[in-house]
Amino acid sequence: DKGLMWFRRDLRTDDNAALYHALKVCRQVWCVFVFDTDILDDLLERGLRADRRVEFIRESLVELDERLRELGRGHRVERAGLIVLHGSAAQAIPELAQRLGVQAVFANHDDEPAALARDARVFGDLAHAGILLHSHKDHVIFERREVLTQAGHAFGVFTPYKNAWLKALTPFHLKAYPVERYAATLAAVPAEHAAPVPSLPSLGFESTNLAQLAMPTGASGAQQLFEDFVDRIDRYEDARNFPAVKGPSYLSAHLRFGTISIRRIASVAYQMHLQGMQGASTWLSELVWRDFYHQVLANFPHVVDKAFKPEYDAIRFEHNKHAREQFAAWCEGRTGYPLVDAAMAQINQTGYMHNRLRMVVASFLVKDLGLHWQWGERYFADHLIDFDLAANNGGWQWASSSGCDAQPWFRIFNPVTQSEKFDPAGKFIRKYLPQLAGLPDAVIHAPWKANEIELAAAGLVLGENYPHPIVDHAVARERTLLRYAVVKQPG
Ligand code: FAD
Repeated sequence: DKGLMWFRRDLRTDDNAALYHALKVCRQVWCVFVFDTDILDDLLERGLRADRRVEFIRESLVELDERLRELGRGHRVERAGLIVLHGSAAQAIPELAQRLGVQAVFANHDDEPAALARDARVFGDLAHAGILLHSHKDHVIFERREVLTQAGHAFGVFTPYKNAWLKALTPFHLKAYPVERYAATLAAVPAEHAAPVPSLPSLGFESTNLAQLAMPTGASGAQQLFEDFVDRIDRYEDARNFPAVKGPSYLSAHLRFGTISIRRIASVAYQMHLQGMQGASTWLSELVWRDFYHQVLANFPHVVDKAFKPEYDAIRFEHNKHAREQFAAWCEGRTGYPLVDAAMAQINQTGYMHNRLRMVVASFLVKDLGLHWQWGERYFADHLIDFDLAANNGGWQWASSSGCDAQPWFRIFNPVTQSEKFDPAGKFIRKYLPQLAGLPDAVIHAPWKANEIELAAAGLVLGENYPHPIVDHAVARERTLLRYAVVKQPG
């Protein structure tokens, strides 16, 4: 029979569940990716023409196309490769499936509510034409309702989830799908679809600075980052909290777009964890956090527009003109708190932000500026290359204390203490805020504490080349305690 493999957040040939099943059960398999106008038009309408993600996807597709050709050639199939369409995926997939005369479409699960709605529509249209949609788990190790409490409920707290996750894990869950074995069933791309992957301008987008960033694309880029990380994974535990240090893996965008297999990397980390390597155990926990937030989204989809814990929806955040101005200052890195501003410069200039800094700026937005966490969530969604609804929503709900956190709700990060602790020599701050570079380490975290001699030596005039703090942390802290009192009294 004939099949169509529909790539979405799994842009690789290696260990790809749906691709494996398609190749194995069909006699002929075409492969397709759709630049979905149902998603991209919204970006364009909002003027976001320079989007690093669109470029990341495009570059990764060029490589995916090449890999499919190679796989085909290895099995004497000429002109295998990727069909790339630009249009509404919900319409384009059923149309293409019918034109190619396939009996089944294969895809990997995507549990974001909008993707589920799209897939339900595609499923219906395909069924109408007598075509099946087969969908597989690929993006996570455990999904949906695979890891549950003893009572059969989905977990809302991480640590017990992680314990259950580790207990449920068997070699089967980490086993790679041997895609190459069945690649002889790849089909040649029909002549009318043989065009190269569309350029950014033809999609309506502009190029970004992606090529200048240390962010290699495609499966080869992911592999390169992973190999580099494995060599220093034993230092992860100590290094991961310091944004000026090369501590984490920088794999998040690759995990988001599936240019690397979660099973491949989790199995390496798991073996090292079994050998007692602390860095690997901690990193494996981060991969479990990823699964955790995906199952939160799948089981508690209300988190998309409401607090995980409903009582937190009673909190009144600021939303007047002053609040909007403060939000603009946060977005543009003009808060007067150097670590916050350097972090915002990092996301604005690179599309990445270090995990520690995501926590710091999120806490600052919610608990120092008193703004709704959804404002920050949306800004991250527009600017992170690794933006993932499940992880981003989880991170923001965590920061606003409305989500899956076992900690008391009144934890409030102090942006200066965080800076002194995690960027002690101000190395990260100096990189992103060169106007502060001349300040001594002792005051770089709080320039308003610098004396006149220090300011003059650094060439810094507060209010001119760097802002005064837009909020007093001590005052803001008290205000936040009051604001949150509608939920419960601090205990
Ligand atoms: P590493 O430290 O090398 O971690 C390895 C992988 O584990 C990451 O690539 C990621 O896939 C996963 N991971 C790590 N931490 C988390 C976490 N807390 N939750 C879920 N998965 C995790 N991560 C995203 O992938 N996309 C997002 O949109 C996103 N938004 C966030 C928003 C906030 C407010 C916060 C606090 C965190 C957010 N995170 C998000 C989680 C985390 O900050 C990033 O995954 C991490 O910084 C990516 O860098 P890395 O790949 O070098 O991480």
